[in-house]
Amino acid sequence: MPVSTAAPLSEFGLIQRFFTRQRVKNPTTCLGIGDDCALMSIPDCYELAVTTDTMVENVHFFAGAAPELLGHKLLAVNLSDLASMGAIPVSVTLALTLPRVDENWLTAFAKGFLALAERYSVDLIGGDTTSGPLTLTVQAMGLVPKGRALMRSTAKPGDFIYMTGFLGDAGLGLKIKQGYICANSDAALKRFNRPDPQIEAGLALRGIAHACIDLSDGLAGDLGHILEQSRVGACLDWEALPLSESVLAYINDTGDWSMPLVAGDDYELCFTVSPEQVGRLAVGCRKIGVIESQLGLRLNKSGNIQPLEVKGFEHFS
Ligand code: ADP
Ligand code: MG
Repeated sequence: MPVSTAAPLSEFGLIQRFFTRQRVKNPTTCLGIGDDCALMSIPDCYELAVTTDTMVENVHFFAGAAPELLGHKLLAVNLSDLASMGAIPVSVTLALTLPRVDENWLTAFAKGFLALAERYSVDLIGGDTTSGPLTLTVQAMGLVPKGRALMRSTAKPGDFIYMTGFLGDAGLGLKIKQGYICANSDAALKRFNRPDPQIEAGLALRGIAHACIDLSDGLAGDLGHILEQSRVGACLDWEALPLSESVLAYINDTGDWSMPLVAGDDYELCFTVSPEQVGRLAVGCRKIGVIESQLGLRLNKSGNIQPLEVKGFEHFS
C-alpha cells in the first residue's frame, strides 16, 4: 500500500491504459501484467540474463526531456546490457515513479518505449507505479545458451580490442545540450537522445569474443572494468579510434582530445578477440588496441605511449 496517492487516473487505470497494449511474443512469458508476479519459463540449456538500469531526472536526463525519447533511451540502455552479454532480450519490467499523472507525457513515453520493445520482440511483463520525483527503472531479461555469455572477466593478453560504431558522438550531443555550438548538431544530438542497443552485434560475438562490455560510462572507464576483472592491461591506439567528423572538429576547436575517451552514453560494444579468431568477426567494428599482461591502461598517441588515468562517470564521487 502506498503512503500517499496523487493520481487522478488510478494506478490501475494508468497501467491498463498505457502499458497493456502489447501482444505477448515470447514463449518465455507464461503470465504477463496483472497478477502479483509475472511468470517466466526458461528453456533447458539456457541461462537467464538479468539487468536493471535507472534513469533519474536531473541526473541522467534534463528536466523537461522529450518523453518519447526517454521511453526509447530507458529501454535501449537496458537492452544494451543484454547485448554486451550476448543475450537475446525476451522481457522487461518497468518501474515508474511519477510526480503527477500527465496523460500526454505518458502517451509519448509509452510510444517510445513500446516501439523499441516491438522492434526486438520484448514483452513488458510487469512493473510498479508510484508517485514521487521522476525516476524510471527497467529490469530486462534475456536468454543466453548455458556457459556462452560474454563477460568482463575473460580478456587474455594478446587479444585485440575492438569496438562497434563511433566513439564520442553521444558525448558531443551532451556538450551541445550544455551550450556548445556544432555544425552537425542534429546527428550528435540523435546519438545522445536515441542510442541503439547493439543486440545483433552481441549475438554475433558469442563464441568469438573473449570479453565484452557496453560503452555506457566512457571507453576508458568501461574498458577499465574489463582490465580489472580480467587482471590484464591494455594499450589503445589513438589514431585507430573511430571518431566522426563532428567529434574531430570538436577536438580541433577545443583541444579537448580526451572527451571521446571519457564521455558516456555511446552504447556501442567494446570487446576483445584473440588474433586467431579475428577472421570470424562478422560485425562492423574497428580494432582500437590490444590487451597486454602489464596492468593499467595506456594510450599510444603518434608513437608516444602514455598511461591513461581518465575515469568514467561515477555516482557518489
Ligand atoms: P502489487 O501491489 O501487487 O505490487 P501493483 O498494483 O503494483 O501490484 O501492479 C499490478 C500489476 O500491474 C502487476 O502485474 C504489475 O507488475 C503491473 N504493473 C504495475 N506498474 C506497471 C508498469 N509501470 N508497467 C507495467 N506493468 C506494471
Ligand atoms: Mg506494486
